[in-house]
Amino acid sequence: MINQDKNLCAREVGPTILTYHALGSRRDAVTTDPGVFARTIEALVAHGNRCVDLSEWVAAGRPRLAKTFAIAFDDGYRSIALAADSLVRFKLSATVFLVTGFMSRGSNRNARPSWMRDEPILDWTEARELTSAGFRFASHTKSHPNLKLCKYDQISEELIESKSTIEDRLARACDLFAYPFGASNALTRRAVSENYAAAFGVRLDIARQGDDRFDLPRVDAYYIRTDRMIDRLARGEIEPALALRRPPRALKAHAKAWIESIRNRSTVSIRHRPDESIISTCSQ
Ligand SMILES: [Zn+2]
Repeated sequence: MINQDKNLCAREVGPTILTYHALGSRRDAVTTDPGVFARTIEALVAHGNRCVDLSEWVAAGRPRLAKTFAIAFDDGYRSIALAADSLVRFKLSATVFLVTGFMSRGSNRNARPSWMRDEPILDWTEARELTSAGFRFASHTKSHPNLKLCKYDQISEELIESKSTIEDRLARACDLFAYPFGASNALTRRAVSENYAAAFGVRLDIARQGDDRFDLPRVDAYYIRTDRMIDRLARGEIEPALALRRPPRALKAHAKAWIESIRNRSTVSIRHRPDESIISTCSQ
């Protein structure tokens, strides 16, 4: 049970929802060094921060909480298993947003769209095994389209099929959703609200009471890579740094969405094999 903390000061609104993708030694925007991940969790715990389970926090009405954080992984890369030791050591949970259409494809690189890292995706057996370490699973659609470019029935299909697949495969409720590319608008948020309890975007901020429940902010782990940033995060002093990075990140997100829309105008799924069942059929 999560209850709202009393005597909060104005900036203690949390949780800070940290979003990771892959873990490993590559130096790119979506890969976090496992050592950095472990040090971040250690520092957060050492400074008295509590980890909240996102599903429980949402079910409790998203109460204001002092010194709290949550852990999320997008896309379901197999390398996230490297986080298991930290989760078990401190008895934490993490929410993994799965793209269900990729789950059975394992390491088949040719089946993966161009935007995705060429490294293995979890399969359903591995996902089930990870639940014992504290991993929880939620939806990131069936095929990772930009939902803003999809028609309503296509959006519904992505939302409903991914939710039912996760619930069937893992025998647990799937109440949470994360937008591919963080892209949402009024139409997509309405569709999500008909199927999920809450949804997460990529707006760089700490969760606050007045947030739209279907466009909750998160903090991309890309910004938490140095010891200095880890220390600021652990001490609850990260907000000024986030404020500085918010405008350029928003610009970048706009540019990415624009490029995605251009690509969708000229081609649909040319990167997939013709027999792919996960082909994105989204159009303008
Ligand atoms: Zn994604």
